[in-house]
Amino acid sequence: MESMKIYDTVIIGSGPAGMSAAIYAARAELDFCIIEKSYASGGQVLSTYEVDNYPGLPGLSGGELSDHFKKHCDKLGCPFITADIVDITPGRIAPNGFFNEINPAKEGLDSVNDLIFMLTSTEGEAFLTKTVIAATGASHKKAGIDGEDDFAGVGVSYCATCDGAFFRKKDTAVIGGGDVALEDAIFLSRLCNKVYIIHRRDTFRAAKSLVSKADAIDNIEFVFDSVSKSISGTTNVEALTVKNVINGAERTIPVSGVFIAIGITPATGLFSSLVACDEAGYVIADESGKTSMPGIFAAGDIRRKPLRQIITAAADGANCITSVEGYLTKSF
Ligand code: NAP
Repeated sequence: MESMKIYDTVIIGSGPAGMSAAIYAARAELDFCIIEKSYASGGQVLSTYEVDNYPGLPGLSGGELSDHFKKHCDKLGCPFITADIVDITPGRIAPNGFFNEINPAKEGLDSVNDLIFMLTSTEGEAFLTKTVIAATGASHKKAGIDGEDDFAGVGVSYCATCDGAFFRKKDTAVIGGGDVALEDAIFLSRLCNKVYIIHRRDTFRAAKSLVSKADAIDNIEFVFDSVSKSISGTTNVEALTVKNVINGAERTIPVSGVFIAIGITPATGLFSSLVACDEAGYVIADESGKTSMPGIFAAGDIRRKPLRQIITAAADGANCITSVEGYLTKSF
């Protein structure tokens, strides 16, 4: 352990927040690495069909935008490491050079700038770092309806851009009323015979521009005030049954595919015992990224914030690096 390298910062997650942090870290000449779970950098953006609100780069697919981010990182020499981090332990380096775990709750965090974090991967690899940037993003929520698990992968999907092509010329349903549900439905309308959007209220949460776009597409039908009850079929999905919340009427809609787009859950598993989170599980951190644990900063969809967009995730990554620099130089 004595000779182990100690990074200035380790960025966990390679979505827009993580890659933006890496770009800023490289420019700040920090000793850092960016750890990603798989070789595919980009996070949730990778499954976005079209990103039309990232300034200067209109109309790119999520994959193309991620490629731009990655190429920028590569140009600056950002070191990417593929590892699945499963544990973060705070500690200090003892005079003998060994890492000593500490319990911040017991020891207090008054004198914190000598804190070191040990990150451990599933493969048993260990990384020591003075700071951590939590940029692990978020994942799709499950709807918890009958048949959802039974038909997962054979008609139930959480990613229209990944699986839409399997439903060419078929009828499909999208459950949800946010940006993702509307984007998914618009994407699917180009492939499918008919697309139903099932929403539990009579007003969409999605951006008005998306709602107008979907409304103008002939093969999209809005099914408002309806909750999904069950997905049925024999080997594959054959129907979705929904219930109208106003009059209680049930309707069974014949569809071959059901796309569930009801929001995201922050991927905070690694951090929830170390930093304060809100009731929905998001890490409580302001724009600076500072969390309740000195040395741990949060960027992107993992953080409690009013607007989760690629641009705000990228901004978080940049802000976190400024905060890391301040923390390392004890200037805040
Ligand atoms: P979201 O904005 O949280 O919307 C979730 C939708 O699903 C809401 O309409 C909600 O209904 C509905 N819903 C939630 N739980 C449900 C349940 N159990 N059963 C039925 N319906 C349920 O989530 P999202 O659309 O996945 O978007 C996630 C975030 O990514 C958002 O902040 C979004 O703005 C952002 N995003 C950004 C971009 C971009 O940067 N270009 C693109 C896509 C998404 P209610 O409306 O009734 O609550």
